[in-house]
Amino acid sequence: MQIPFVNLKAQYETLKDEVAEAIQGILDSAQFIGGEALASFERDFAEYCQARHARGVANGTDALHLAIRALGIGHGDEVITTAHTFIATAAAIAATGARPVFVDIDPDTCTIDPRMIDRAITDRTKAIVAVHLFGQPADMDPIKDIARRRGLYVLEDAAQAHGAEYQGIRTGALGDVACFSFYPGKNLGAYGDGGAVTTNNAAIAERIERLRDHGRTSHYSHAEIGFNSRLDALQAAILQVKLRRLDEWNANRRRAAEWYTAELAQSGIKTPFVRKGSTHVYHLYVIATKERDAIRKTLDEAGVATGIHYPVPLHLQPAFVHLGYRLGDLPYCEAMAAQSLSLPMFPELARDQVRRIAAIVRAATEQDSQQKLQRESPYSPAAQRAETAKELR
Ligand SMILES: *Cc1c(COP(=O)(O)O)cnc(C)c1O
Repeated sequence: MQIPFVNLKAQYETLKDEVAEAIQGILDSAQFIGGEALASFERDFAEYCQARHARGVANGTDALHLAIRALGIGHGDEVITTAHTFIATAAAIAATGARPVFVDIDPDTCTIDPRMIDRAITDRTKAIVAVHLFGQPADMDPIKDIARRRGLYVLEDAAQAHGAEYQGIRTGALGDVACFSFYPGKNLGAYGDGGAVTTNNAAIAERIERLRDHGRTSHYSHAEIGFNSRLDALQAAILQVKLRRLDEWNANRRRAAEWYTAELAQSGIKTPFVRKGSTHVYHLYVIATKERDAIRKTLDEAGVATGIHYPVPLHLQPAFVHLGYRLGDLPYCEAMAAQSLSLPMFPELARDQVRRIAAIVRAATEQDSQQKLQRESPYSPAAQRAETAKELR
């Protein structure tokens, strides 16, 4: 019995007719760019996020890039973020010409550690990009306090956290501007690329609208050099159908996470920690253990697909070597890169699949720690040989 890491096909089976109808509607209208389908999805998505405005863009990376630009950030500026995230977070900062400044994570939640932010601020710092990693909001209250005190913008990278809440407020309405990805595997996924920016600030929404469409202010007038970064009407129509199911899917993800956590409770493995006052929507279910590589191999041999998010922290990526970071600079990011393991997670994951995966993980952990114990034990054959060799010398 193979268990995939995600199962987009299972989800599509439950939506087939509604999606076909939505696609047919766009084909019949022949309005493929902009139009009512886009406007209608933007309204629904803003409302879902409890934000005043939403604007569709081509993908999550562009959402970040355009949002940072919309705040007037670029060359000579610094933007603080985490190194324990997908590269797009920092690549988008760099794309504006600004410099990404990495700080370490809180080892419990793996989101940016607010206590590390103050000392990273310089007179060039303009913003903080908080990543709601794996589906759990970053600790926004202390981040917003720092930002208010030091005159910085707060952006949310909510690409993995559609529908998650912090102190009763949805992601997308927690900072100055928020960025979403609708990459197919995300909690709300298109059938291709897609993204959105949400904000309560009308001026920011307007600037995004301009930047995504060649800096256009009217058909023949371009106020600034912009980009071609629009959300297709087809994707907007599909997303609107899927948005209606998002809460149900997130609830199913949460249920699967609870099963995992209960099954792994006595195993000595670190399971996801959910901060008080936050809800987690489990884009990924990530455990941490020193036996990561052995467990991953055993799962692979048993037909269970896993992932590592992320094996190389951004401050150590070749693409960012010019920033001058070194191994040891961000100890918790580096520890998580070595120990994190993402188990299969999707809304349709079944109880017996979780049971089977957890049983393999538990058995592999016990076996691996037993072998380590034997290798390190003073009574092991290897240790005794070393002892004898020492005596002979
Ligand atoms: C997926 C993702 C992005 C980028 O989104 P794309 O739509 O793939 O461009 C950015 N940040 C995080 C944290 C992501 O997981």
